[in-house]
Amino acid sequence: MRRLLTPPEGVAKAAALLAAGQPVAIPTETVYGLAVPADDARAVAEIYRLKGRPAFNPLIVHVADLAAAEALALFDARARALAAAFWPGPLTLVLPRREGAGVASLVTAGLPTVALRVPAHPLAQAVLEALARPLAAPSANSSGRLSPTRAGHVTLPVAVLDGGPCAAGLESTIIGLAAAGRARLLRPGALPAEAVEAVLGAGLAGAGEGVSAPGQLLQHYAPRQPLRLEAVERRPGEWLIGFGPVAGDSTLSASGDLAEAAARLFDELHRAETSGAERIAVAPVPGEGLGAAINDRLARAAAGRGA
Ligand code: AMP
Ligand code: MG
Repeated sequence: MRRLLTPPEGVAKAAALLAAGQPVAIPTETVYGLAVPADDARAVAEIYRLKGRPAFNPLIVHVADLAAAEALALFDARARALAAAFWPGPLTLVLPRREGAGVASLVTAGLPTVALRVPAHPLAQAVLEALARPLAAPSANSSGRLSPTRAGHVTLPVAVLDGGPCAAGLESTIIGLAAAGRARLLRPGALPAEAVEAVLGAGLAGAGEGVSAPGQLLQHYAPRQPLRLEAVERRPGEWLIGFGPVAGDSTLSASGDLAEAAARLFDELHRAETSGAERIAVAPVPGEGLGAAINDRLARAAAGRGA
């Protein structure tokens, strides 16, 4: 149920709900974010269900400061320079994920990179401090609707920490630093690209530069082996990922729970990829609710290279 939390008491309540795996809409200087602890895969799956997102795109992870960010990702000199100049603030950096970082694979959609930001809003900072865990937080709107910039705009059935209107009212600027070569402007946003270029002392590559279709802007994780969908039994040489009545070598959810399946999806694909099997097969997953996003991602993985 939607419920308004008001500061200062609301901060501790928000942190307690988050610690229990309940999503909370929190104010940031860009827009209101629908936050959950980034290491809680079930809670992250709940975000997708609440937003009605038809696909698993990676989410931005919000941390309290640079030290917390460096615990999750590998920073080079450029990343440190940008963090020093613009954090806390509306800049998101996509960086190589640190091995063993406490971020659920559903947050990064199975990618070896992670998108990080230190928000400047005092209430976002207060919640991060009280919880002492990173928060995954996409905008707190239903998929396809306007991003909320006031507590009253958040219509999802969650607790909303009221921080008044957002100062920027525009999403963060996303800079990709994970690949070799020039830094890439992945999404224009509240921080002007020129300000980033001034700190880097170099121009940014456009999001689409060297990419043949806009849909390929974001590389998606796909296992190396061929992937067969709608499999009801294992064929020779296959690692079968089960669901519900199809047991498999491992399972997305033995009980047929779609939230559990979403939470486990990328971990199970990685497990199958490293199993040594020549091929991977996945049991049928129903298409309703979170099943739509699960099937979308499986279809992309089966196609070899997601778009
Ligand atoms: P939202 O959370 O709705 O503001 O959207 C997050 C944006 O960050 C999406 O456009 C993602 O494509 C982008 N993003 C998040 N993580 C990554 C990543 N690891 N690599 C590239 N883009 C990312
Ligand atoms: Mg959004």
